[in-house]
Amino acid sequence: MKWWINLLLAIVIIVVIIPALTVQDFSLFGFKDKRSSSEMNGQPNDEIDITSKSKEGVDEPEIAMYDHATESVIRMPLEEYIIGVVAAEMPASFELEALKAQAVAARTFAVRKMRAFGGNGCSSHPQADVCSLYSHCQAWISDEQQKKNWGSDYAANHEKIVRAVEETRGYIMTYDGAPIEVFFHSTSNGKTEDAGEVFSHSLPYYTVVDSPGEETSPKYKQTFTFSNEQFVKIFKSRYPRSNLSAKNLSSQIRVKSYTKSGRVAELIVGGITVKGTDFRYLYGLNSTDFKFKFEGDRVIIETTGYGHGVGMSQVGANYMAQQGHTYVEILKHYYKGVEIEKYR
Ligand SMILES: [Zn+2]
Repeated sequence: MKWWINLLLAIVIIVVIIPALTVQDFSLFGFKDKRSSSEMNGQPNDEIDITSKSKEGVDEPEIAMYDHATESVIRMPLEEYIIGVVAAEMPASFELEALKAQAVAARTFAVRKMRAFGGNGCSSHPQADVCSLYSHCQAWISDEQQKKNWGSDYAANHEKIVRAVEETRGYIMTYDGAPIEVFFHSTSNGKTEDAGEVFSHSLPYYTVVDSPGEETSPKYKQTFTFSNEQFVKIFKSRYPRSNLSAKNLSSQIRVKSYTKSGRVAELIVGGITVKGTDFRYLYGLNSTDFKFKFEGDRVIIETTGYGHGVGMSQVGANYMAQQGHTYVEILKHYYKGVEIEKYR
């Protein structure tokens, strides 16, 4: 070959082929790039390394999940698991930064449970790190299920969630250097709840914080109607020694105290003191922020918010993202004093 043909080939390789490969690599990682220092305040401690997919593909820990849909243990790379969790736990229509906050919450939950990181695994399924039951560990859906749920929106929704997971790859919330105990909920009543009001113990990062924008949720206000007889029957199924009667029901029910966030702490029903949280589960209410209305032979309970109220409100997170907040700002708002850092 003539010398100038070799030179031409060399130029083509340097100018065209190498950059093309690099661009493809970038697109795999969701367009993350260096940020200006002014933006760093709302960003995690370290930049995500956008060039290390192959390295991480090898190093990435595997999670063992008990799948309730197929009643089997599935092993998969951690980040692949997070995609299925975000798809199951938050509407894909939510803002990207809200989905990223959800991805970090999901990863924190998983890392804390995983035996590879010293966790205890799922207490119901000892052969697994986590299970796919939302009320026990966290929900997870397969790729097939995502296709079924989303139909023609599958490609766009899936891509958005993959991007949320990729752009937070490896990041978790820590407190005193350890992954936090993760709680979140759908919709608050405008304030989050102190963990000690709902669970057996308080945690320093779960205090009461304002959570604006909740009114946009269809679950914000709901009513639950019971006949007086039904109401009494349900109560006596749990408290058989109660003297509650369907006559003059309104005079037998009184809220005794509220929590700092305005939810019912305790109420007295038919002479028995009941915790707001127990009352909520007994009647299947959306939240412990409830009010009674007595109308003749029926009682109407109006709830505000959906869920226990502890930690991040998903609707509140989406609202914050709409106001231009990053996922780090969202997480640091709902989880006080946490650091966002890569798991080790
Ligand atoms: Zn479980």
